[in-house]
Amino acid sequence: VSDKFSHIASHLAATGANFYLRGWVMGTSGNLSAVVERDPLRLAITASGVDKGALQANQIILIDDCGHVLRDDAAKPSDECPLHIRIVKERAAGAVMHTHSVWSTMLSNLYFEDGGLLIEGYEMLKGLEGVKTHGHREWLPIIENSQDILALADVVADNLRQHPAAHGFLLRRHGLYTWGNDVAQAKRHVEILEFLLETLGRTRLISGIN
Ligand SMILES: [Zn+2]
Repeated sequence: VSDKFSHIASHLAATGANFYLRGWVMGTSGNLSAVVERDPLRLAITASGVDKGALQANQIILIDDCGHVLRDDAAKPSDECPLHIRIVKERAAGAVMHTHSVWSTMLSNLYFEDGGLLIEGYEMLKGLEGVKTHGHREWLPIIENSQDILALADVVADNLRQHPAAHGFLLRRHGLYTWGNDVAQAKRHVEILEFLLETLGRTRLISGIN
C-alpha cells in the first residue's frame, strides 16, 4: 500500500496545484481522491481546508470506506469525503475529482430547473471515456446543494443510478464532480467538462442562446 499510496499522493498533489492555476479550486475549495485498494476500500484524499495552489503529497491522507483516517491522525479528510466514497462504489471509479469553477457555479444555477445540462455537438466531448463522436449527447445532472453530506450522498447515488451514462454531475451553485478509472482519466474529465461548461457559458453570454 505504501509505495502505491505515495505515488498516488504525488499525482493528486500535482493535479490539485494544476487545477488551482486554472482557477477551478480557489480558496481551499475542491477535493481530489483516488483508490489505493478496493477491498477493503482504501482511499487517498485531500485533507480538509488545504490550499490547492500549494498542495503537497503530505496533505493527502488515507481513509477507509467510513471516512476514518488511517495514516495521519492529525489531519481531517475533506468534508465531502462521503460523496467521493459513494461515487467510487456506484461507478467503480479509481479516482474522483471535484472543482468549484465560476462556470460550473453559474450554469448549475441557471439550468437547475431543467434538472441538468445537455451538452452535444462538440468535438471535445470525445475526451470523455467511451465517447467516439461529437454527436454524443452528454447529460450532466444538477443536484441541489446541501450541508447534510450523508443525505446528499444518498441523493447523488440515486441520481447516478438514474443516469448510468453520465460522466459527471453538478451540485447547484457549488461545483462539478467527475471521476475516472485512474487519476489521469479523472483529470482529463475535469478538463473536458470544465472546457465544455465554459464554452456553453461564454456562448450564452455573447449570443444570448445556448
Ligand atoms: Zn465542494
